[in-house]
Amino acid sequence: MMDLDLVPGRGCGECTACCTVMAVDKPDFQKEAGVACRHCASGCAIYDNRPGLCRDYYCAWRHLPILDDTWRPDRCGVFAEFEAVDDLTGISLVLIGNPLKTIRQPWFIEFVTTGVLGDVPLLLGIPGPRGRQGASLLLNTRQMRDAANTSRGHVKALLEKELRRLQAHDFPKRMFVHSGANFGVAD
Ligand code: SF4
Ligand code: SF4
Repeated sequence: MMDLDLVPGRGCGECTACCTVMAVDKPDFQKEAGVACRHCASGCAIYDNRPGLCRDYYCAWRHLPILDDTWRPDRCGVFAEFEAVDDLTGISLVLIGNPLKTIRQPWFIEFVTTGVLGDVPLLLGIPGPRGRQGASLLLNTRQMRDAANTSRGHVKALLEKELRRLQAHDFPKRMFVHSGANFGVAD
């Protein structure tokens, strides 16, 4: 989608969010969303032999200097990923901590306001229950632009409304195409 360098000097540290948050359905690696990979223990236990997906993957925080150090996913409760929106590259903001607390934070409201006014496609997402798909919606609506042009309070109120919409979503069951290499933690 886009060829971006990593932010110099920035590392994952103790964060392992992507090893838990994402659902993976690859021939050599399957895992439900929200379930820690069984190889995730103080880093990757099979680092030298990890699947290709893991070798190539970095979240948006590793790529974007505009997301400062406080945006590390495990610290801020937002897992940011690039996502295609029509022909553009957008940013998906998946709420992996306390969603209501996160969207009320001034830094989050500021980022959404700036992004929407700058026409950067932004998606707000929440993970689904185990075994289900998550839900997301586009924040670049006329209503959100009007709110961003009015006040941070209006943006906050609209974010809360959008979060309620997401939480009322009928999370469909996730169907996996591949099998035989389940990296999820066994029950
Ligand atoms: S979510 Fe981002 S910062 Fe965290 S481990 Fe994955 S790539 Fe690194
Ligand atoms: S195999 Fe991949 S998902 Fe599992 S712990 Fe290693 S890097 Fe994370």
